[in-house]
Amino acid sequence: MTEPLVWQEYLELVRMIRQRIELEKDSAGAYVFDEDPSRYRKRMAQQVTSVAPVAPVNPVASPKPVVVPQRTPALSDVTQTNSEPQPSVSKLSPQVVSSNPAFPSIQELTQQAANCQKCKLSQTRTQVVFGVGSAQAELVIVGEAPGFYEDRDGIPFVGKAGQLLTKMLAAIQIQRQDVYICNVIKCRPPENRDPAPEEIIACRTWLQAQLKALEQPKLICAMGKFACAFLTNIQQSMWKYRGATYEYEGVPVICTYHPAYLLRNLEEKKKAWEDIKRVRRFLDESRK
Ligand code: SF4
Repeated sequence: MTEPLVWQEYLELVRMIRQRIELEKDSAGAYVFDEDPSRYRKRMAQQVTSVAPVAPVNPVASPKPVVVPQRTPALSDVTQTNSEPQPSVSKLSPQVVSSNPAFPSIQELTQQAANCQKCKLSQTRTQVVFGVGSAQAELVIVGEAPGFYEDRDGIPFVGKAGQLLTKMLAAIQIQRQDVYICNVIKCRPPENRDPAPEEIIACRTWLQAQLKALEQPKLICAMGKFACAFLTNIQQSMWKYRGATYEYEGVPVICTYHPAYLLRNLEEKKKAWEDIKRVRRFLDESRK
């Protein structure tokens, strides 16, 4: 009776090792397998102690006003036009958010957004792709916009980029279902073009409300320049976001490349792998 179980465990182990090797190869770098494990652990520990949980915003940056103001919407903003100035709400910690029964839940927001007509993308989308995952997730991934497969299936990050994201998460021992995943805008731009500023502005209240409705996020990982700009309130070159830890409404933010960009620029996978390892270290540190 035990033999099949042992065999299954063995196959699972082989699968995980293969997955890891594949990612290492993809990342065009040898980080783990050319290094003694104890030395690797020591090096990682040194890096953890040298990285403050929340560092100041990248000093190299020359911040310009971002397209998306960092203001938290009133509930009415979520369902009404976005053209009016929004009342400022004080920063809420995740704990405060979860104790606010007046604020809509993720499920309620998903239902409300399903018929959103606030920008012209509503005319070309198949469906609104609001988000997927647990409202109790520690890690939140924010990407850019739905693509073809996401628009078809109604789930973010399901195409090739999504598969790469799943591999990246698995390599740091995080299962996709344990993460909350969403995008800056919720409807697919035609031909997968970049989101237009007016579309980001129109859609911002959804993302703001969505992040507020999550109960206890410990870290947000922003993927791609639009997510990074939204969550840091800084517009700059993508590479400048990397390395620092920012903050959005009291939740730390780590920035990295979008998986779709990595599929087109294989040489950048090495940097993204460094970023994703920072995510792992940050989550580990937050549990101590
Ligand atoms: S992109 Fe956002 S604002 Fe525009 S229609 Fe879709 S959900 Fe509404």
